[in-house]
Amino acid sequence: MKTTCQVAVIGGGVVGCSVLYHLTKLGWSDVMLLERSELTSGSTWHAAGGFHTLNGDTNMAALQGYTIRLYKELEEITGMSCGLHHVGGITLADNQDRFDMLLAERAKHRFMGLETEIVGPDEIKKIAPITNTDGIIGALYDPLDGHLDPSGTTHAYAKAARMGGATIETHCMVRETNQRPDGTWDVVTDKGTIHAEHIVNAGGLWAREVGAMAGIYFPLHPMEHQYLVTDNIPEIEAIIDAGGEHPHVMDPAGESYLRQEGRGLCIGFYEQPCKPWAVDGTPWEFGHELLPDDFDKITDSIEFAYRRFPVLAEAGVKSVIHGPFTFAPDGNPLVGPVPGVRNYWSACGVMAGFSQGGGVGLTLAQWMIEGEPERDVFAMDVARFGDWITPGYTRPKVIENYQKRFSVAYPNEELPAARPNRTTPMYDIFSDLGAVWGQQYGLEVANYFAQAGEPSYETPSFRRSDAFAATGREARAVRGGVGINEVHNFGKYLVTGPRARDWLDRILAGRIPAPGRLSLTPMLSPKGKLIGDFTVSCLGEEEFQLTASYGAQNFHMRWFQQHQEDGATVENISDRRNGFQIAGPKAREVLAACTRADISGMRFMDVRRMVVGMTDCIVQRVSYTGDLGFEIYCDPMAQRQLWWTLWQAGQSHGMVPFGMRAMMSLRLDKFFGSWMREFSPDYTPAETRLDRFIAFNKPADFIGRAAAETERADGPARRLVAFEVDADDADVNAYEPIWLDGTVVGFCTSGGYSHYARKSVAIGFLPTERAAEGLEIKIEILGQMRKAKVISTPLFDADGARMRG
Ligand SMILES: Cc1cc2nc3c(=O)[nH]c(=O)nc-3n(C[C@H](O)[C@H](O)[C@H](O)COP(=O)(O)OP(=O)(O)OC[C@H]3O[C@@H](n4cnc5c(N)ncnc54)[C@H](O)[C@@H]3O)c2cc1C
Repeated sequence: MKTTCQVAVIGGGVVGCSVLYHLTKLGWSDVMLLERSELTSGSTWHAAGGFHTLNGDTNMAALQGYTIRLYKELEEITGMSCGLHHVGGITLADNQDRFDMLLAERAKHRFMGLETEIVGPDEIKKIAPITNTDGIIGALYDPLDGHLDPSGTTHAYAKAARMGGATIETHCMVRETNQRPDGTWDVVTDKGTIHAEHIVNAGGLWAREVGAMAGIYFPLHPMEHQYLVTDNIPEIEAIIDAGGEHPHVMDPAGESYLRQEGRGLCIGFYEQPCKPWAVDGTPWEFGHELLPDDFDKITDSIEFAYRRFPVLAEAGVKSVIHGPFTFAPDGNPLVGPVPGVRNYWSACGVMAGFSQGGGVGLTLAQWMIEGEPERDVFAMDVARFGDWITPGYTRPKVIENYQKRFSVAYPNEELPAARPNRTTPMYDIFSDLGAVWGQQYGLEVANYFAQAGEPSYETPSFRRSDAFAATGREARAVRGGVGINEVHNFGKYLVTGPRARDWLDRILAGRIPAPGRLSLTPMLSPKGKLIGDFTVSCLGEEEFQLTASYGAQNFHMRWFQQHQEDGATVENISDRRNGFQIAGPKAREVLAACTRADISGMRFMDVRRMVVGMTDCIVQRVSYTGDLGFEIYCDPMAQRQLWWTLWQAGQSHGMVPFGMRAMMSLRLDKFFGSWMREFSPDYTPAETRLDRFIAFNKPADFIGRAAAETERADGPARRLVAFEVDADDADVNAYEPIWLDGTVVGFCTSGGYSHYARKSVAIGFLPTERAAEGLEIKIEILGQMRKAKVISTPLFDADGARMRG
């Protein structure tokens, strides 16, 4: 056996083999896969082999599309069969909300180049004749859906990898992974020790155990899953004899997926009485066996399926496949460099290995070899969960995810499992004021404050929700007087040391401010993609506070650590510095009443330390509401005291608490972009107009400079613009296509309702040459073409007089 290699991939399931193949495909051949048994010895061998592109996240859907197209390539390279059946598939909708979701998906597919179609009950009958369409409104048809042979496909990946120079060691159990001081790894196996520069954890069912060997907790959990294969069914035999093949049918109402298997059918369920498996760890001796049949938990599902597919009621069951596979808390894979651990990569938590495995392999190989993936993959980045995550949190979230696998996913939905988890000292005070809570990165965040008679739970919807009135009231109260909310959901970082400024100048593209001032700056990847959107506060020549998205903490800390330099220290202080923002025309008067500091001379973008009430605070004059406003940061231990000070002073000015729903409406008045909506690694500074914050004239060779300069010289092909939309009861959410002269020319990044201007607003990309004031276009919202026009004058405070005054 080889004793050194550049990459040791642990695990020979479909995911490990895909990673191995993609590493060779992108040029690394000194790569090795270690499998404790035979290839496919985890979840892979008993998978139903189905694949599909449908995914709520657009980039995940694109990677699923890549995976599906890859199989033909694999067959050609290796001469092996993947057992492909491109039979197409339909997803049924039996109520309006479900149908709305399919309409929204179809709309996204238009700019993604996916040829899906909405079909009605008559067409469903023609496409999938065994379906009882009673109560069905329509369906989404995807010609790319299909199924394959799981074992053949995994072996095809393995052969293609070997052809590219990779080595595969089967019956080679990894027992330990020990890091050397230089960051490389000793991988201790039954067959000896391998010295590897990088490790990839593709341990599938055992990924938790493999991670623990390096002291890493991977937030995933195995769930039991069952599908049945029937005896021959005459109606299916008739289709086959006529030269056809029955397509896949996903029936979300029945939580089932169905496809042809041989001359019968195969049907699997995501049942509500589902069961987590191996709660305290996956036994090493588990391998090529199945779990005992468990019909009790799928009795209701089977009865439902008999009504939807009556032929099933007459069919005998030939075999039952009941096995475990893993999920992360949100159901997406865990991929990428593990934060805080050098040269350790994750390729686990993949619950749909045959839809996603190719995309996971490609992404990881790009990240390892080229330094960054080609697209935004935050939805599956292992860094999207924080250090606060524990098995006690993961388990209920994974159960919830399994149960909701086929549920309608609403844009405003707040999932209830494992909550409240993390709360600030304001939780009870805000709850008493009627807070309706949402959740971000494990943290409870007030969405809005319900008054008597208003719903204390926001009903999930694709249309304007029942939080509309409360949101409007809060937004207008800010614009007319003063509002207060927490600043707990900002990611905050403290950068200190004699070289703090130099380091920031290299890591951030913008100007680093002078003491007492703030600046806004993008952070760029070497390829010039947006990987951060920061506010920098200079608290002293050697002390800076950075604020950015709360959910990106691990993502940003990983980057900072990867680019660490002597003389500058960076700490994540997100939960160690809390406080409030107060915003609106009366904000200055409220603050003045709470401090003896003279704030009259405090300019827009100033930052100062001052005592507010009896609390030491950092106060900065800036507000994401676009209004006159202050962010006031303090030690969380003093947060309640600070609250009472500000709240009491605010009473005479009509102060109201406002939540995230109002905040997101207020930012639209000024067309302010938001992280992971307008600003993400999918986009560049010039496309999003963040190039105005790049300090091209600073001497520092900041990361991404060359790419940003090239983009500045060439000009971007597309531009972010704002639209006023002629909407009805549904506003833009994200990824709605933008139509001009009958073709799709762009897509929306976000939108909503401006309660201040009483207008529906969207933000989205247009080709640069079309991005001009007044251009009239159409935006497809839930299947309806809505007129919209480009606007460039902010709806509030167009000259900035209030914000800066
Ligand atoms: C009943 C059922 C039906 C399914 N149907 C579908 C479907 O239709 N479509 C779909 O896309 N997905 C389906 N899945 C999910 C699919 O099986 C998984 O997504 C996929 O198999 C995950 O592959 P993996 O490589 O990540 O993990 P695994 O298949 O679990 O592979 C992990 C490998 O790592 C090896 N390993 C672990 N620890 C070590 C160690 N210490 N040393 C060496 N080797 C080690 C194991 O032996 C194993 O071979 C289904 C799952 C089940 C249970």
